[in-house]
Amino acid sequence: MCPHGDTNPEWFIIGRAKREKMLIETESTFSWQEAKLFIPYCIIHPTMDYNTSRSQLPAPSTKRIALRISAPAERALRQGHPWVFDQSITEQSHTGAPGDLAVIFDDKRRFLAIGLYDPTSSIRVRILQARDPATINADWFRAKLVSAALVRESLEGMNTTGYRLVHGENDGLPGLVIDRYADALVLKLYTPAWIPHLKDFCEALAQVSPATHLILRLNRSLQKQTEFLHGLSDGMTLSLLAPEGLILFKENGLIFESDPIHGQKTGFFLDQRDNRARVEKLSKDRSVLNVFSYTGGFSVYVARGGAKEVVSVDSSAPAIEAAVRNMDYNKLVSASHETIAEDAFEVLEKMQSQKRLFDLVIIDPPMFAQSEKQSAGALSAYRKLTHLGLGVLRRGGTLVQASCSSRVDADSFFESIHQSAKEANRGLTEIERTGHGIDHPVTFKEGAYLKCLFATA
Ligand code: SAH
Repeated sequence: MCPHGDTNPEWFIIGRAKREKMLIETESTFSWQEAKLFIPYCIIHPTMDYNTSRSQLPAPSTKRIALRISAPAERALRQGHPWVFDQSITEQSHTGAPGDLAVIFDDKRRFLAIGLYDPTSSIRVRILQARDPATINADWFRAKLVSAALVRESLEGMNTTGYRLVHGENDGLPGLVIDRYADALVLKLYTPAWIPHLKDFCEALAQVSPATHLILRLNRSLQKQTEFLHGLSDGMTLSLLAPEGLILFKENGLIFESDPIHGQKTGFFLDQRDNRARVEKLSKDRSVLNVFSYTGGFSVYVARGGAKEVVSVDSSAPAIEAAVRNMDYNKLVSASHETIAEDAFEVLEKMQSQKRLFDLVIIDPPMFAQSEKQSAGALSAYRKLTHLGLGVLRRGGTLVQASCSSRVDADSFFESIHQSAKEANRGLTEIERTGHGIDHPVTFKEGAYLKCLFATA
C-alpha cells in the first residue's frame, strides 16, 4: 500500500548514487523521464489522489499574457528579483485571470521572464523563470521540487523530520510554502494564482516528496477570495487520508507536535530550529525565561540542555497547553517547567516588580510590521521588549532576541536592541547574530526576515 492509499501504484525505489548529477541536470535541461532514475531514496508515485473532485480545479489558461515593464523593474528582474509590481507594468496584451502565465519582454521583444499573473495583488507577477523561456508544467514543478528536496536532505540525518521543504520565492516557487511534519505535508498558498496549477503541482509533489497526508492552508487574504478557490478551503485535506489529530515529528532528536490545521503558521515555527539548538548549548544549570514561547520550542531544547528552571510565556492558551505536552513527550524531568498563558508585556512588568531574575531570557515575538509604514512602530516595540527583558535578566546573563518582521531590516533591529540596552544602563556584548536554517534559504532581500541576537548584558 502506498502512502496515498492507492492499491496499484507505480513504484520506483531509487538509489543514492547520482544525486549531484541530477542537481546539475535539474538546473538546465531537466527531463523527468531521465531524472526519476537519479532521485535519491525517493519513492516516486506518479499520481496524487485528491479527496476533492479534480474537475473542480480549473486548468491553466493556454493564452499567455505578454507584458512590458518599466526600466527599474526590468533591472530588478535581471538581478533576480522575483516580483513585478502592478505599477511597473507599462504594456499588457490583455487582462487575465489569477494563474495565467505572463511573459515579460524587453523593448526589443526579447524574452525576460515568465511568471504567475495575479490581478488581485499589487505583486502582479511572481516570477517562475527568468532568462530562458520555460514550459510551466508538472515536469517543471518536479525539477524545482527536486532541487528543494536536495537542499534539505541533510536534515533527516540530523534526526529532524519537521522542516520547510519549499520556502516560496527562495526556492523558485513564489507565493507557496510547503512544510513537512514526518508523514504529513502542509502546502500553504499566498496567491490564487497557484490554483489552476495545483493539479500538476501536486502530482509532481507526490512523486518527489511523497507523504500520507497533504493539508492545504490558505493565507488570510486568499481565504476571502472565494471566487477563485474552486471549492478549496483553508485546512482541507487534499490527500485521501486526513491526519488523525496532532502530528508528531522530530527536530534534532526532540519530539514535538504540530497542529497543521489550527496552529499558527503551519503548526510550528520551523525557522527557529538552529537558534533553538544554539540556546540549548547555553542553558546548562541556568534559569531560563522563554517569552512568546508558542508551543515551547526553545523551552524543550533548554530543558535538554540542562536548564534547572524554564518558564514559558505566551498569550495563547492552546499554545501553552501544547508546550506542556511537548515537554512531556521528551520526558525531560530534570528541569521544572512553569507555564504562563498571559500577555508577555504584562508578565515581564510583573516579574520585574517581583524582582524575579533569570540567567537566560529569550524573546521571540510575533511579526510587528506588516508594511513599511509599521516598521517604526515595530522598532519601538522591540526596544520596549529589550528593556523589559533586561529588567528580568540577571547581570551578566544572556539575552536572545529575535525579529521575524521582514519590513524591519537587520541593522535597525540590532541597533534598537543596543540603544535600549544603553538606556537601561546595561553593557551589551554580542555573542552572535543569526538568521534561519538551511531549509529557509534566502535568495532576495525580502526573504531574509528572521534575525536574532545573542548577547550578554
Ligand atoms: N518562539 C516560538 C515562536 C513564537 S511566535 C517558537 O520557537 O516556536 C510568536 C508567539 O507570540 C505566538 O505564539 C503568539 O501566540 C505569541 N503572542 C503574540 N502576542 C503576544 C502577547 N502580547 N503576549 C504573549 N504572547 C503573544
